[in-house]
Amino acid sequence: MSEKNKKNRKREKKAGLTGKIFIGLILGAMTGVIFHYAVPAGFVRDTVFVDGIFYVAGQGFLRLMQMLVVPLVFCSLVCGSSAIGDTATLGKVGVKTLIFYLSTTAIAITLAIGVANVVNPGIGLDTSAIEATDVAIAESTSFADTLLNIIPKNPIGALANGDMLPIILFAIIIGIILAKLGSRTETVSNFFSQFNDVMMEMTSMVMYVAPVGVFCLIAKTFSGIGFGAFVPLLKYMLGVLLALALHCFVVYMGLLKIFSGLNPFKFLRKFFPVMAFAFSTATSNATIPLSVDTLEREVGVSRKISSFTIPLGATINMDGTAIMQGVAVVFAAQAYGIELGIAGYLTVIATATLASIGTAGVPGVGLITLSMVFTSVGLPVEAIALIMGIDRILDMTRTAVNITGDAVCTTIVAKQNGALNEKHWALNEKHWAS
Ligand code: ASP
Repeated sequence: MSEKNKKNRKREKKAGLTGKIFIGLILGAMTGVIFHYAVPAGFVRDTVFVDGIFYVAGQGFLRLMQMLVVPLVFCSLVCGSSAIGDTATLGKVGVKTLIFYLSTTAIAITLAIGVANVVNPGIGLDTSAIEATDVAIAESTSFADTLLNIIPKNPIGALANGDMLPIILFAIIIGIILAKLGSRTETVSNFFSQFNDVMMEMTSMVMYVAPVGVFCLIAKTFSGIGFGAFVPLLKYMLGVLLALALHCFVVYMGLLKIFSGLNPFKFLRKFFPVMAFAFSTATSNATIPLSVDTLEREVGVSRKISSFTIPLGATINMDGTAIMQGVAVVFAAQAYGIELGIAGYLTVIATATLASIGTAGVPGVGLITLSMVFTSVGLPVEAIALIMGIDRILDMTRTAVNITGDAVCTTIVAKQNGALNEKHWALNEKHWAS
């Protein structure tokens, strides 16, 4: 087969996967809505489809992705940090990443508060039309303990529990030591690097069933969501979605263009399957393997960088969550007639940035850490009950934004450190399984 034909075939395959995931997403949403409104409740709809096929296939796919997270993060981080080797470069990458993560989160909340003050989500609210639910409140951990928890007392325990920050620290230390000991620990280095290849291959295999997995996850979610609950909260939802869109498409893409010079549209096209996966699952953590892999294969980001910045971002960088919290604050303040003032808003920016660090990358946690933000400015925690019923769809959307922020930061840092493979970036036909 000629080189050109081969390229064309690869291009078809690539369009195949991204396109199929997109189709899975749309068909899943449509099926879910039809199931909710048009199919009568009963054994076939509920037991066979929604809680049967959709649930098992969707959760099965999600579990397959979750299965990859800890071994992949650990191995690729050990390999990444041992490849970088010197602690000065690691430190530089770490500081840049932290500055990016914290400052974009602060921008995100400020933007959210601004948008919410235009949309006025809590004014004219009909609370009687909202079905309130019980509120879960965050157990607050002191800042000192949050810092201390980064050091694992028992690294195996941290791995077993999937505690990301201690895993990251332990893996980096091992990587640095492997680099220092060089040929003396060649066998251990080779083991991690080969195991890393195994995990990458496994990620590619799991991705083959992604379109079906995404379809089932979305169909199950939408078959449980009625749009009736949205009506009184339409302005709130609109505020959150608008701020999320602005942050993702204007702030992130602007930063990408300014700091890396890369074309934002091309980036979004290449990164789309990861956003679709995050949207379907509402979990940043489970998205880590896919994000690291897509950034390498499609965008050209070296794992030396992404194996560190992506798990870190999935754990501490939650701009989408911060946006929801910013809009929720304005919503609750308006609904309860509480004046926050400049000092109040500044407190919100500070606490929501901290809450974003403390929010785990799993579904729905943003709503729990929201109680911390509300308490910091004296807003009634019960107000959270008002927005709980409709949170799932916003959770899905904000998770897609959360992981896009991590990826944009990673791409910028990689580009600035000479760790972006321009050939991979230039190729449009690069494909998962190639
Ligand atoms: N589901 C979000 C995530 O995994 C966290 C949240 O906002 O609840 O990124």
